[in-house]
Amino acid sequence: MTPPAQLPDLTPFIEAGRRDLAALVALESVSAQGRMLPETADAVTVLLEGEGFTVRRFPGQVAPVLLAEAGEGPATLLIYNHYDVQPETPADLWNTPPFVLTERDGRLYGRGASDDKGELVSRLAAVRALRAAHGGHLPLKIKWLIEGEEEVGSPSLAGFVEAHAAELKADGCWWEFGSVSEEGRPLVSLGLKGIVCLELRCAVSDSDLHSSLGAVIDNPLYRLSRAIASLRDDSGRVSIPGFYDAVRAPSAADLRALDSLPDARSPLQQSYGVRGFLGNADAREVNRRSNFEPALNVNGVHGGYGDAGSKTVLPASGFAKIDIRLVPDQDPAEIVRLLRAHLDAQGLSDIEVNELESHEHAARSDVAHPFVQAALAAARESYGAEPIIHPSAGGSGPMHPFVQHLGVACVAIGIGNVGGRVHAPNENIRVEDFARGVRFGAVFMEALSRRALGEKEPGREALG
Ligand SMILES: [Zn+2]
Repeated sequence: MTPPAQLPDLTPFIEAGRRDLAALVALESVSAQGRMLPETADAVTVLLEGEGFTVRRFPGQVAPVLLAEAGEGPATLLIYNHYDVQPETPADLWNTPPFVLTERDGRLYGRGASDDKGELVSRLAAVRALRAAHGGHLPLKIKWLIEGEEEVGSPSLAGFVEAHAAELKADGCWWEFGSVSEEGRPLVSLGLKGIVCLELRCAVSDSDLHSSLGAVIDNPLYRLSRAIASLRDDSGRVSIPGFYDAVRAPSAADLRALDSLPDARSPLQQSYGVRGFLGNADAREVNRRSNFEPALNVNGVHGGYGDAGSKTVLPASGFAKIDIRLVPDQDPAEIVRLLRAHLDAQGLSDIEVNELESHEHAARSDVAHPFVQAALAAARESYGAEPIIHPSAGGSGPMHPFVQHLGVACVAIGIGNVGGRVHAPNENIRVEDFARGVRFGAVFMEALSRRALGEKEPGREALG
């Protein structure tokens, strides 16, 4: 075995990365509004080509998809990022201009500073450092998939991954986000939940009626309430028959990871004034449910009169919006079918079920997978702290096609922070996290280049 290359002083690479980030943040690549997407794809292409990547560009429904490739070695790393951002609105709540990367009090502010341009650029800086350490040669194969539609639900991604599955084969995938805790511990996610968004609608007449008719005509809000109440019990357990049939049990390693998770309850109580937790769940149960349990949530119920005083009306119609967070291996289409059958069985056939937005399947990688273990070892080494491992994040994202069509494990490790205000005004990263992210990337890729995955870990010589 060749000895590991000594990583160079990373300072100049971190500085160059910050300049790249400022240039990308200046491009207003808001996918929801179709702003500057080809221009940003161009800029990312130039950055990647500057580091020896061959970049291919494919049309997407909203924005170009980039597939870049560089390097040669025993390991193949797939990286997934996106160059689009959320709208900057409300712009007047920003303390500095959203598209000007601005340093203040140890943080870098700007739309996309964290999500996801900061992640992208920190990884590119790590590639640059690694090439420098290897005399201009990149000692592993990197396949880098960068889309511009993530913030509008990645409408092209699943099809793209399926169509290009052979070219995207890799030993593992480094997912687009991640964050660092207040105490400097990397927060690692190995999965994402799936999602189904639905609208339940009920109408009893073509126009509102006098409420005296409530004696003889049913009420749409009553029927909706009955439907909603029938969907789960007081502990949060979903009551739809068959709902849990496909739920994949966590592995022993997944369950052990729960023990490393901090108590998530008090931050929620302190920041949001949360009154309590379903079923009086203790710390471990809260983490178990967040990671491994599906959930059904009512987003809003609308209908009838809600202004001051009273108005005696029997509303013509009403609707409720719900989302269902799924876990592996629940199928979104099957869940909608089960919900429909359940409402019919409850005598609620008149309630329409309308599917909103496209559904997403859940995905989860095993914590014991060699690629995951390599990422965790590199995180331990570069952060000098034990990672906090979430077998699944509570949120959703387009991870399933990678796991399904490529069979790769996905690991999310990155430069975000809990106060990062992602998607909100004053999005930011901590300068320190950007630097640590560059170091992690270099250590991780150097480690991957030194061994075929699944081999026993060699001695961990000091790096950089
Ligand atoms: Zn985002």
